[in-house]
Amino acid sequence: MSADTPLTKDTEPGAGANTAGGELIRLAGVTKRFGTNTVLDDLNFTVDPGKHVTLIGPSGSGKTTILRLLMTLTQPDEGTIAVDGEQLFPAPEKQIREVRKKIGMVFQQFNLFPNMNVLRNITEAPVQVLGMSKDEAEARARELLELVGLADKCDARPTRLSGGQQQRVAIARALAMRPRVLLLDEVTSALDPELVAGVLDLLRDIARSTDITMLCVTHEMGFARDISDQVLMFDGGRVIESGSPEKIFSDPEQDRTREFLGAVL
Ligand code: ADP
Repeated sequence: MSADTPLTKDTEPGAGANTAGGELIRLAGVTKRFGTNTVLDDLNFTVDPGKHVTLIGPSGSGKTTILRLLMTLTQPDEGTIAVDGEQLFPAPEKQIREVRKKIGMVFQQFNLFPNMNVLRNITEAPVQVLGMSKDEAEARARELLELVGLADKCDARPTRLSGGQQQRVAIARALAMRPRVLLLDEVTSALDPELVAGVLDLLRDIARSTDITMLCVTHEMGFARDISDQVLMFDGGRVIESGSPEKIFSDPEQDRTREFLGAVL
């Protein structure tokens, strides 16, 4: 991908940014419970613009819940969440809708609209949510499909595509909204093993050649090591250790981190 792709242009530093306070994402004192299960326990962290942060840790430690909170698919019981200097929670409904536009998410199970072709899957939200003209949305969708290597699949239904191709469409769909933050939730977990590398290579390419901020939950430790500026190790709804990938993967401080990495590497 070259430096002058439409993707890069749309994610230039400062594009639509409110740089107050420096960080793009701020979670402060976030607690989330499901019944008596405290899933996130007084969580605090910030992510600076353009950084790639990977969340690792055992299943059930609360990683996906953080992404879902940022997508406003669920709400915290306590604490505040801000994106780009604007409060996402708690906030009035109208503000939540506006802040939410800055965030795109790619899910484990693709979540494409099965009744729409590939092009429409990508243009639907830019037209409906951003008010983009159909022509502009289609032109951008075609550029993004080129970027993800699926320029010839505009008219295909998602069910006709392989899992890897569906995930590429889902990535293009998320980028079509020109988000400042891209949330990736175990995006290769549902793929056949031979399709994993291609999707990870695409994401590496996007991470390298754009300044989009990424928050990534993954069990692909090689990928995490490659793309991350920072790795957060979760256990029991808390960050028990954080640092550079070199530090976390080669010389972790916590026994729990070592034990977890020993089991997955
Ligand atoms: P991870 O991504 O680290 O595997 P999750 O954030 O998916 O962890 O889940 C953390 C905990 O929250 C788990 O115990 C899970 O069962 C629970 N949980 C997640 N979503 C719900 C829900 N909608 N209702 C009840 N419990 C949930």
